[in-house]
Amino acid sequence: MAVLDRATRRLIDGLKARVKILTALVVVLAIALTVMTVLYITKDTEPEKEQTASAGSSSVEDDVTSDFPASSDETGDATSDDKSSSSKKESSSSTSSKVSSDSTAANATPGDSLDSWNLKLVNPKTPLPNGFTVRTEKIKAAYARDVGMLYDARAVSYLNAMCAAAEKDGINLLVISSFRTNARQTTLYNNQVKKQKANHPDWSDEQVKKYAATISAYPGTSEHELGLAVDFNSVEESFENTKQFQWLKTHAAEYGFIMRYAKEKQDITGVIYEPWHYRYVGEKHAKKINQLGYCLEEYIDYLKNNK
Ligand SMILES: [Zn+2]
Repeated sequence: MAVLDRATRRLIDGLKARVKILTALVVVLAIALTVMTVLYITKDTEPEKEQTASAGSSSVEDDVTSDFPASSDETGDATSDDKSSSSKKESSSSTSSKVSSDSTAANATPGDSLDSWNLKLVNPKTPLPNGFTVRTEKIKAAYARDVGMLYDARAVSYLNAMCAAAEKDGINLLVISSFRTNARQTTLYNNQVKKQKANHPDWSDEQVKKYAATISAYPGTSEHELGLAVDFNSVEESFENTKQFQWLKTHAAEYGFIMRYAKEKQDITGVIYEPWHYRYVGEKHAKKINQLGYCLEEYIDYLKNNK
């Protein structure tokens, strides 16, 4: 019995020792597993944090982009596409800002904010952003010299209404230039440079280009590329002696249009006197601009200072 007991005890002791070793191994494994799990989780969440951060920062960039005047509305689809491709995992805030800017774009009512599409300033010092696009619609054929002339879709009804009102008064307002692509403006500018070079053979290239730009805007700086400008009937200064000009002087503001380049504002606009060139800004602003005797540059400064 005693021998058996001893043997059993040895067996039991041996088993106990093995159990201890096994337990120790299990504990070590558990610890290792826990450490690995923790490491794995940390590793997994970190990029998520980065993603959130980058999505956040890109949405800030988006905001900045969309704040960059009303171009957000106008640039519309192209910009929106850029946004979605640049940050695939968009935060809900940037999505909602996109939706709101799109709905603004769809809304034809001109806004009062300096960022509103109808107050967007384009001039030699303020070029349009690269790749600028605008949704356009055809001007009513009866008022357009060429087939399919285009204008900003949000303002084309005001242009058609103005031409219709003039027609009722026996005045023939004919749009001879409206929306231009950047490529078209480039052609016009290059032609003007050639023309001025021929007219002023003694001028330097710089002088020629500078002067040409006051007549045909440098590509990217023309209001025609914005889609809110039209030229009526004749691009001659003598247009100021026509009944069309007189009618526009009295009624254009009622439809939201201003004569953009006044004779006495050339130093500010950087553009020669153009009695034929009209720009849509919205009725309220057009009337105020006329009342104040400002050009658009002065009016925008005035709005900034009287916020
Ligand atoms: Zn023009």
